[in-house]
Amino acid sequence: MRKLTVSLGERSYAILIGRGLLDQGALIAEVVRAPRVAIVTNETVAPLYLSRLEGALSAQGIESRAIVLPDGEAFKNLDTLNTIFDGLLRGLCDRSTTVIALGGGVIGDMAGFAAATYQRGVDFVQIPTTLLAQVDSSVGGKTAVNHPLGKNMIGAFHQPRRVIADTDTLSTLPDRELRAGLAEVIKYGLIRDADFFDWLEAHMDGLLGRDPTLLSEAIERSCANKAKIVAEDETERGVRALLNLGHTFGHAIEAGLGYGEWLHGEAVGAGMVMAARLSQGLGYLSSEQCERAVALIADAGLPVTGPALGADRYLALMAHDKKVEAGRLRLVLLRDIGDAEIFADVPADQIRAAIAQCCV
Ligand code: NAD
Ligand code: MG
Repeated sequence: MRKLTVSLGERSYAILIGRGLLDQGALIAEVVRAPRVAIVTNETVAPLYLSRLEGALSAQGIESRAIVLPDGEAFKNLDTLNTIFDGLLRGLCDRSTTVIALGGGVIGDMAGFAAATYQRGVDFVQIPTTLLAQVDSSVGGKTAVNHPLGKNMIGAFHQPRRVIADTDTLSTLPDRELRAGLAEVIKYGLIRDADFFDWLEAHMDGLLGRDPTLLSEAIERSCANKAKIVAEDETERGVRALLNLGHTFGHAIEAGLGYGEWLHGEAVGAGMVMAARLSQGLGYLSSEQCERAVALIADAGLPVTGPALGADRYLALMAHDKKVEAGRLRLVLLRDIGDAEIFADVPADQIRAAIAQCCV
């Protein structure tokens, strides 16, 4: 088992990564206030992993109540949140109850927001079961649901007490979801970890083949990068914004096509290509490093071109991104592999040109 810490003073917590952790109820027993938990999961994950988790908990004398939600981003909303609250109230869950998220990022974000607000806040443990959730969404304490007028618009910062990533759960993950998770993995290499980027270039085939040792290492190195960024800037006033590399372009793709058409990681893959090409066009990134970035994204089986929405449509959609601050578009661009920086006031013509270059 690999162990990392997210250092946030009193709210510090461990990220545990390894095989078979789902069966180790002690890892949860160590962090609960009372022997009572509510497990939030969905209809896809429950048949695969719920009974194993319940068994591991009852072996520790922990009583659990399962709340099984429908599967999908379309259900990440206030109505479904209310279903969680109904389950917690019917189960007479009190302030000593720990909410456990068992699933991908959708479940983690919703269960986390429910934990942040139920009775003004209860403890919360993340058991992420997608690669994206294991390397990204389960770490850092961002929780949210969607609003009809925007994704993740209603939420809170609420750090988990522990993150338990059982890498064996990835064996049932569809290939497309695995590749989408790799987009966020590549992102860490691009924004702050050139050594990791080199390692990913050498091991992409093995990762796509789900070699468990390679996957564990990729998850650990991704989480180590995210943990450092979150420890430096918990509420995204500064450096945490670097995690948005490719995301403003990606947001335009997701919103422009209609959410769900492309997976988030696929949109981020093409978005990072756009950011790299723009960085090159502005003279910040050498063409050699730009091509390395594009090649690795392609090797991960991710799209390197975006849908032809038209550059103006992209710009309009990008202006609606949550990352826009006081009307100014702020973009994460690359100086080098492993070196990113935030830029405001990038000329629109240059952005249009980079988008056009990446759309076929
Ligand atoms: P997801 O939660 O929708 O999971 C993808 C699919 O895989 C779902 O159908 C799910 O039921 C299924 N699944 C989950 N685990 C499985 C397993 N082990 N085997 C088989 N199927 C499995 O998607 P995701 O990519 O994990 O997360 C995306 C969500 O995360 C988005 O809502 C996004 O906004 C959010 N997110 C949050 C943060 C954050 O910091 N909080 C960061 C990134 C993304
Ligand atoms: Mg993302």
